[in-house]
Parts: sequence; structure tokens; C-alpha cells
Amino acid sequence: MAKNYYETLGVKKTDSDDVIKKAYKKLALKYHPDKASDDKAKKDCEEKFKSINEAYTTLSDKTKRQQYDMGGRQGFGGGRSGGFSGAQGFGGGQGFGGSDFADAFADFFGSGNSRRQSRENLDLYESVTIKFTEAAFGCEKEIPIRKNVPCSACGGSGAKDGKFDTCKNCDGQGRIQMQQRTPWGVINQAVTCDVCNGRGKIPKEKCYTCNGNGIENKKTTVKISIPKGIDDGQTLRISGAGNASKHGNTGDLLLEVHVKSHKVFTRDRFDIHMDLPITFSQAALGDKIKIPTLSDEDLKIKIVKGTESGAVLRLKGKGIPFLDDPFYKGDQFVKIIIKTPKKLSKAQMKLFQELSKLEK
Ligand SMILES: [Zn+2]
Ligand SMILES: [Zn+2]
Repeated sequence: MAKNYYETLGVKKTDSDDVIKKAYKKLALKYHPDKASDDKAKKDCEEKFKSINEAYTTLSDKTKRQQYDMGGRQGFGGGRSGGFSGAQGFGGGQGFGGSDFADAFADFFGSGNSRRQSRENLDLYESVTIKFTEAAFGCEKEIPIRKNVPCSACGGSGAKDGKFDTCKNCDGQGRIQMQQRTPWGVINQAVTCDVCNGRGKIPKEKCYTCNGNGIENKKTTVKISIPKGIDDGQTLRISGAGNASKHGNTGDLLLEVHVKSHKVFTRDRFDIHMDLPITFSQAALGDKIKIPTLSDEDLKIKIVKGTESGAVLRLKGKGIPFLDDPFYKGDQFVKIIIKTPKKLSKAQMKLFQELSKLEK
């Protein structure tokens, strides 16, 4: 059954993009899985977060919102229960195939995310490895790829010297009328002429370079802006950066992002964790210690008197930024590890022995 995206976001159909964006941000923040207190709450949040993102992906895209609205209004089959839900029939917003959180998230990152109706798969799959901090703060990358592009000799027309004859199959119209049986009756539908692929003309003589295909395989690079907050294993969809076909379509580039590990930090969604070794005396007496942060500037933190080994300090907002949301960032967690000295100098040995006497 189709979900009502407007209800999911708690907005009206007539609301502006701005209102929708604000509503989305509020909900995304409220139901962010990182805010959940336990595993069950986390699961609920993930579900909710996923549907919020799904709704927003559709409603924030002008074309998709239009399609979705259209689908809802037409309501084929007399309503939602009839099996032909408008929204589903039109493909308006059913873009989410992913069953887990990571998939939905990656889709959300992608620009456009258009599921093509064409049967030809023109999508390209590549991967890129970036640094931990590049993932945290976003980066630009040039990715070398090999892909099908319009033939440079004939400009993609497939015709030598650009000379064409009119297509006889469609009389140069590019489309032919066909009767189609559909669940709601027989309808006349114009379909693309498969002799000329909708162009209404066919080459007089084929282009030598591409053998009339109109495409050639070329090495090229794409510049990609990787959004901040991306995590290892997520996939970006770059609309229109895939292969070109002779029918004039282009696929998407699906870029899997791998993130290198960091020498100090480990990551858990938007939080970062580090171990901080301190000495016995620092733990007992307290101290101020400089620690690294993601943003390169060292931060001085206070170790209180009598700190236990394993104690965890939380530095709010020093973690990974969340999407393009300026008011949400993960936290930095610092785990205190008290180092037991392996080698003692004579002076240290003496002091420890004296200390030991006092502790008896
Ligand atoms: Zn050519
Ligand atoms: Zn034709």
C-alpha cells in the first residue's frame, strides 16, 4: 500500500518546499537512531527515520513530488484498496528498494536517484577510497572511469557525414500508435519507433568510427563531491554520469565509498571513539591533557582527581557532522586507560615502595 508522504512528514499538500524541509529536519533529528536509548528504541527510530527519509526524498524533488501528487489524484482502481494504488503505478516515490538502514541512507545521499524505465542497464559501478577525515568533512574527488559516450566522429548520430534518410516505419514521426491492453481497458498509446529509435530518420551511411552505434567507449574522469558524514560502504548515485546509449539515454554512476581507518579514532555512525592512556599519578592527582580532535586542533581536557581506568569522557559535538545539517554533529568519546609502568627508574621504584607502605 502506498504511504502518504505528507502525513509522514506532518505537512500539508499545499506546503512549500521550505516548510517541508523544516518539518523533515525536525523529524530527522527527533528520530535519529543515534539518539535512541536502547536497542529496541534504536530499531523503532531506524524504521521511522527510514520512512521520513523516503518521504523527504520524494517530496524534496520537484519532479518526483509532481509525479507523486499526480499518482495520488488519479487513484486508478478506485482508491488505495483496489490494488492499483496511484502512487505505485506511476512509480512516484517507490524508489526505495533497500531493506536496511544503510541502503536507505545511501539513496538519500544520492542526487536524483532516478529509477530508469528503460530496460537497458546503463548504470556504471565504481568505488573510491577516501580518508577518515575526508569522510567526516566531505571532499571532492576525481574518479577515472571508462564509459560509453556519444561518438565524437558523428556527434552520436551514427551517420557518416551527418546524412540521413526519413524512417519509413514511422514516416519520420519517430513514434507509432499501438493499442495496449491495460488493467483499466484498451488504450491507444504512442510508442517509440524501434527502427529509428524515435529519431524519425536513419543514417544514409553508417559512421565508420562507431559502426553506426553513435557511441564509443572512452576513458574519462568525473569530479564528485562526496558529502560530509558519509560512512564506509555507502553508495552514492550520481545521476546521468553513467553510460550513454544510442537511444540518447544516460545511466547513473553508482560509487561505493570506502573509508580508511584512522590512527586515533574509530567511528560508530556519527560518533568517534579514542583511547587515552594516562599514568597512575595523573589518575590519582588529576591533570590537564591535550588530546587530538577531528578538526586538527588539539583540545585540552581535564582529568579529575581519582579517575578510574575505563572512565569515558564525552565531548559533545566533536564527532562527525550529520549530512548538511548545521545543528547536528556526533560526539567524541575519550576512554581513559591507566598505564601500568613496565620499567621503573630507581627513584620511581623508591617512591612506589614508600607509597606502598602508606597504603598498608
Ligand atoms: Zn560515430
Ligand atoms: Zn522510425
